[in-house]
Amino acid sequence: MPTDIAIDLKLIDHHCHGVSPAELDWKGFQAMFSESYLPPPEGTTEFQKPLGLVIRRFCAPLLDLEPLASGQAYVERRLALGAAEVNRRFLTASGLDSLLIDTGHRSNAILGWQEMGKVAGRPAHEVVRIEAVAEEVAKTGVSAADFPDAFAAELDKRAAGAVGLKTIVAYRVTFKIDQSAPEKGEVVKAAGAWFAKAAEAKRWRLEDATIIRHGLWIGAEICRARKIPLQVHVGFGDPDIYMHACDPTHFTDFIAALEKWKVAITLLHCYPFQREAGWLSEIFQNVYYDVGCIQNYTGPSSADIFGEALEMGKFSKQLYSSDAFGLSELYYLGQKLFRKGIKQRLDRWIAEDFCTIKEADEIVRLIAAENARRIYPVGEP
Ligand SMILES: [Zn+2]
Repeated sequence: MPTDIAIDLKLIDHHCHGVSPAELDWKGFQAMFSESYLPPPEGTTEFQKPLGLVIRRFCAPLLDLEPLASGQAYVERRLALGAAEVNRRFLTASGLDSLLIDTGHRSNAILGWQEMGKVAGRPAHEVVRIEAVAEEVAKTGVSAADFPDAFAAELDKRAAGAVGLKTIVAYRVTFKIDQSAPEKGEVVKAAGAWFAKAAEAKRWRLEDATIIRHGLWIGAEICRARKIPLQVHVGFGDPDIYMHACDPTHFTDFIAALEKWKVAITLLHCYPFQREAGWLSEIFQNVYYDVGCIQNYTGPSSADIFGEALEMGKFSKQLYSSDAFGLSELYYLGQKLFRKGIKQRLDRWIAEDFCTIKEADEIVRLIAAENARRIYPVGEP
C-alpha cells in the first residue's frame, strides 16, 4: 500500500506561452512578472508580493542560490548564467509530459512553440489564437468585402497543425455581448470601419465585437470539424479588462450552442470566477476549466484557490496549466504550486475520511494529464 499521494506525475501544461530568450536586467525581469502596464511605485519592487516571494523561495535554488536569496542577487545570478541556461534549467525541471503553446501573444518577444519543445526536451503543440489571425489577415491589405472569407480560410489553414484554438473575446469586448453569429454584411461593414481606423492610427488591435463574434463562430466550426477544443480566456490575465463582465456565466448562450456541436470549451485561468467555472463544468457536458496563472500570483495562498476549484467542479473536467509567459520560472512554479496545492487539499480529504490515497491518486492523474489527453489530440505519452 502506498503511504503518500503520488504527485510527481508528468503534467500536460494545456495553456502556456513562449519564454523570453533575452538577458533580463533588474527592470526587465520585474516587468516580466507584473500584470500592470507600469512599473511598481518608486521605492517598491515586484519581489514584494506573493509571486516575488515564491520566486525567491523555490527558484533561487535552481540557480545555485540559497532559498530566499534577495531579488537583486537573483537577477544578478540569472544574468551571469545567461537566459538560455536559465530557461533550460527551469523547463527541464518542471516534470512536463507536453506543452500546449498559445502563439498569439507578443510572439516576436518570445520563443516559438517548436523552440519551446526543444528547450523543454518535451513534445510541444500549437494553440492558435483567433483574434491574432484576424489581425494578421487585416494587415495583408485584403479588402473589407473579402475579409470574412479570407479570415476563415487563413484560420482553417493555421488550425490544420494545431491542437486547439483560443479566443480572447473577454479581454477585448467582455462576455456581455450578443453571442449570435453576425451576418456577412455586418462583418464586411465592421471590417471597413476597422481598416480605416487602423490605417490612420497604424495600430491593428482588434476591438470590434462584430468581427470578434465572426471569429468565434468560424473558430467554432473549425473546432467542430477538426474535433479540437476551443480555449476561452476567463478573468485574470490581462490589464485591459473589465473584470466584472469577464464572468463566464455571461457566456452561457455560446457555451450551450457549442455543447450541441460537441465542441469542448476549456475555460482558462478563471480567477476570480473559479467557482462559476466549476459550476459550468457541472452543467455543461463540454466545459473544462483550469486555475492556471493565478496559482503563481497567489503563491502561498494558491492551495485555497485550488480548493475552491475542487469544491464542486468535476474531477474529470479540471485541467493543469501554468499559463507561463516570458519567464521560465513561471513554468517551474506553476507545476510546483499545483503539486503542493493538490496534495495539501487531498491530504485533508484523506484525514477527514472522505477518501483514501487510491481515490486521491486518481484525481491527481485526471487533472495532471488524463483529462487533457482525452480532449486534445496530443497522442499517447
Ligand atoms: Zn495565457
